[in-house]
Amino acid sequence: MKTDKTQRVLKLLEKEFGGKVKVDIVERVLYEKDATAIPVETKTPVGVIFPTSKEEVKRIVEVLYNEGIPMIPRGAGSCLTGGAVSVRGDEVVISFERMNNFKIDLDNATVVAQPGVITYHLQKVVENHGLFYPPDPSSYKFSTIGGNIAENAGGPRCVKYGVTRDYVLGLEGVIKYGQTVKFGAPVMKDVAGYDFTKFLVGSEGTLGIFTEAILRLIPLPKERRVLLAFFNQLEEVGKAVTRIMTSGVFPSALEFMDNACIKAVNNYKGLGLPEDKVGLLLIELDGHPLAVEEELKEVEKLLTSQGALVFLAKTKEEEEKLWSARRALGPAISKLGSGKVNEDIVVPRSKLAQYIPAVNRLAQKYNLICAIFGHIGDGNLHVNFMFDKTNPEEVERVEKAVEELFELTVNFGGSITGEHGVGITKKPFLKLQLGEVGIQLVKGVKKLFDPLNLFNPGKLVDV
Ligand SMILES: Cc1cc2nc3c(=O)[nH]c(=O)nc-3n(C[C@H](O)[C@H](O)[C@H](O)COP(=O)(O)OP(=O)(O)OC[C@H]3O[C@@H](n4cnc5c(N)ncnc54)[C@H](O)[C@@H]3O)c2cc1C
Repeated sequence: MKTDKTQRVLKLLEKEFGGKVKVDIVERVLYEKDATAIPVETKTPVGVIFPTSKEEVKRIVEVLYNEGIPMIPRGAGSCLTGGAVSVRGDEVVISFERMNNFKIDLDNATVVAQPGVITYHLQKVVENHGLFYPPDPSSYKFSTIGGNIAENAGGPRCVKYGVTRDYVLGLEGVIKYGQTVKFGAPVMKDVAGYDFTKFLVGSEGTLGIFTEAILRLIPLPKERRVLLAFFNQLEEVGKAVTRIMTSGVFPSALEFMDNACIKAVNNYKGLGLPEDKVGLLLIELDGHPLAVEEELKEVEKLLTSQGALVFLAKTKEEEEKLWSARRALGPAISKLGSGKVNEDIVVPRSKLAQYIPAVNRLAQKYNLICAIFGHIGDGNLHVNFMFDKTNPEEVERVEKAVEELFELTVNFGGSITGEHGVGITKKPFLKLQLGEVGIQLVKGVKKLFDPLNLFNPGKLVDV
């Protein structure tokens, strides 16, 4: 939707930034979608700009904001809730593909990163210096630091190491009318006023645009070992999780797969996992090699005494095979239906033994295939409903099931999203969790940072 005004402003930006501004439909259409599986109505953005420095971002925001033109910051476009797509058709995408540099400060164990840095790339480089950047969304090989910060991304290692927010020490960015903000510093302690740094993590591009981040690094554990434990009853899984987490051993990953997931990865990868079991736990331990060896024995003993069937990886290849079962889950489950919704709910760990059967009953009520896996150690599960997307009646059943799933989750004292954010797809359900007063506060903050509603409009909350 290009008006005379947007044509004029884009021409002005083209004059200033040359080839960094793209207005051809062929180029723009590439930025129309993100990785969201649930069908959302998207439009083609009016332009895509590729800044290469924070000064350029400031100038672009200044021009667009003062002209009243909305903008969508974008990393790799791997968002699963529609956060990186255009919903109005008059937005300009600001892509961070060309802002992908970072600088390590070994003495302070920090790194200053531009938003377009690929998370995995940063992790591999810091590992060469004996340092560790733990946040590990499954998309880490292609998603960006900016996108991870905007979504407060997490993954398997978060049970021990925390989420992206726990590693962001400082943020620099641009807000309304191109004003620059800088919060935090490369220090562990900073109590000067409200903690805007942590607050902005998870803001989904709706309050402004990050141009630089200071990230915390920690020492890289020297050893990692993996084991699998298979269970006959769900209650046993819950008990095993509690026993591990109170045993003095702190796993670096504690992942769960239900029976439907076991069967799906067997079909997909021919892994030969026992299909008569109700579920499995994948447990990873890390630390000093001697400590890990001892802890591994402790966990194995604990699990066997509970009647679990334990398989310990002896070599790195075997370990990789065990992890490959977990990583293959997305595509493996996708084979169970032409449509899939993957809801990343969280409930207190103590309630999982009641919550999982309740979800299965919900799936039965709506006659849907359901597969559950996830980061059971932090109560964050991926509930997948599979369906035939060409069947409108089935699609309607899924929509009802998702609505009830969120109600159930909130009633269990949990959250409607632990990883993927609110975006467009979970926006209608945010009030369920925050209540009316909470929503009013969100709107108030949005107005403070973005009074004209030009940063990623239509996402997270309507103002
Ligand atoms: C296969 C797959 C697996 C996934 N696994 C996980 C997982 O395990 N855990 C998890 O948490 N997520 C996961 N995700 C979701 C997604 O990868 C994360 O949300 C990720 O953080 C998005 O990063 P991105 O660079 O792709 O950002 P994008 O998708 O481009 O953008 C995401 C949001 O961030 C905003 N944004 C981007 N850059 C900036 C910036 N510089 N300033 C302000 N806002 C910005 C965008 O406007 C948008 O709202 C997965 C996605 C896929 C496709």
